Amino acid sequence: MYSIVSTAIIQGIKAVPVSVEADVSSGMPVFEMVGFLASEVKEAKERVRTALRNSGFGLPAKRITVNLAPADIRKSGSGFDLPVAVAVLGALGCLEGAELSGFFIAGEVGLNGKVQPVRGVLPMVSGAKERGISRCIVPLANRSEAQLVTGVQVYGVESICDAVQILRGEHWEEKQPAESSDRNTGEARQPDFADIRGQYLVKRACEVAVSGRHNLLMIGQPGAGKTMLAMRIPSILPPLTESEQMELSEIYSVSGLFAEREGLMRVRPFRAPHHTVTVQGLTGGGAVPRPGEISLAHKGVLFLDELPEFLGQTLEVLRQPLEERCVRLVRAYGSFEFPADFMLVAAMNPCKCGYYPDMQRCRCSQSAIERYVGRISRPLLDRVDICVEAPPLAFDELNRAGDGETSEQIRARVMEAWRIQKERYRGENFSHNSQIPAESIRRYCALDAEQERYMEEIYRRLELTARSYHKLLKVARTLADMEQSERILMRHLTEAVCYRSLDKKFWERG
Ligand SMILES: [Zn+2]
Repeated sequence: MYSIVSTAIIQGIKAVPVSVEADVSSGMPVFEMVGFLASEVKEAKERVRTALRNSGFGLPAKRITVNLAPADIRKSGSGFDLPVAVAVLGALGCLEGAELSGFFIAGEVGLNGKVQPVRGVLPMVSGAKERGISRCIVPLANRSEAQLVTGVQVYGVESICDAVQILRGEHWEEKQPAESSDRNTGEARQPDFADIRGQYLVKRACEVAVSGRHNLLMIGQPGAGKTMLAMRIPSILPPLTESEQMELSEIYSVSGLFAEREGLMRVRPFRAPHHTVTVQGLTGGGAVPRPGEISLAHKGVLFLDELPEFLGQTLEVLRQPLEERCVRLVRAYGSFEFPADFMLVAAMNPCKCGYYPDMQRCRCSQSAIERYVGRISRPLLDRVDICVEAPPLAFDELNRAGDGETSEQIRARVMEAWRIQKERYRGENFSHNSQIPAESIRRYCALDAEQERYMEEIYRRLELTARSYHKLLKVARTLADMEQSERILMRHLTEAVCYRSLDKKFWERG
């Protein structure tokens, strides 16, 4: 007998349909699996055979052949166990009356027949729906993400026996996932800019950065509140659109982190990997490539604290995704793309001890300071649009309560700036000032004769590169948008210059 079951494999963050065919015939008793399989998929044979026996289905002494199609896609991961088990049961005639073709099935099984969660269930179920499948059997632990796909009947199963009961159309009672009962209730309070004392200049820089989606670097002594400020940046970013929420949920589903996020991703992510993070941890990868920190920060903030402590090669891999807003991984068996449209926020001490340029307290030698900041390469620095100094808090600021505006108030202004940019860049393939390509700079950041002369002097005085000069103009464009001014004015240029002067101060002291 022959049977066929629909499942899928994740490539990047997309699900590619896979059919599991099983055939049982008389002949030499053997269990064979074919179809361009990675080693862990070949091992499914042993897991499935034992799991079936422990679920009460001993395999007869017959020839069992399982084929995973299409043959040109390499099958990896452990999500094929359950569909293979079901296809074998179907071919053995144990699922009488079941219409296997109407189901999508995914799940890993343990030797005891229990079903374990797998990664990527959300895009898998979403893809199944597009192919016209309306019933999905998934691991119970993955049920909540599968249920984000509307118009599909989702069954969360704990064991092979559960799946058999559903397929046979027998009475079956769905369980609640163990931990889901008291979660999901009430959103935790987001950190708010109103909590921050003083630091008006840095708060302003944060608002400018978010308004044009510019990358931001904060330099300051320990205790100046750089991390507190960075953590509050997501709270002034405009809310995610519905499609962004879904895309982000898919990334977390593929990462296997969906359960931790308790449902649809409604809040912009804030990721702060430690400086010991590996290149793979940052960009993604692995035998079955999964998204890295920069993709988990998609549509949100990637915060790199203690920037010079990161390894040079770790930082260098950020350059491509910062330009292209996605990360590409090339493997022998194919290339994968993960979205990575994040805002980079970095923080650093001005020197190893943290107190430069306060020469009373700084214990670092001139060359030590140069070595410290020199760990950040010029090309990476050129990709930072706004560089701001976070000064130590003045004494009278220490005892003051949070005195600033709320994040909600700031966000209202940011949303207005985003609206202006969206309008202006209608029909372009970018949507924010930070993304204006070099060839369109003159069109969108036009200057008059006096401004040209001023900028020429700045270009020479700050020894700008072409890239950093363009960054400066884009920031000026954002400052103009924040005042709803169609023209860039002199005061916008001078403020933008301030956000560019620090690299001269810290990186090129004579
Ligand atoms: Zn120092």
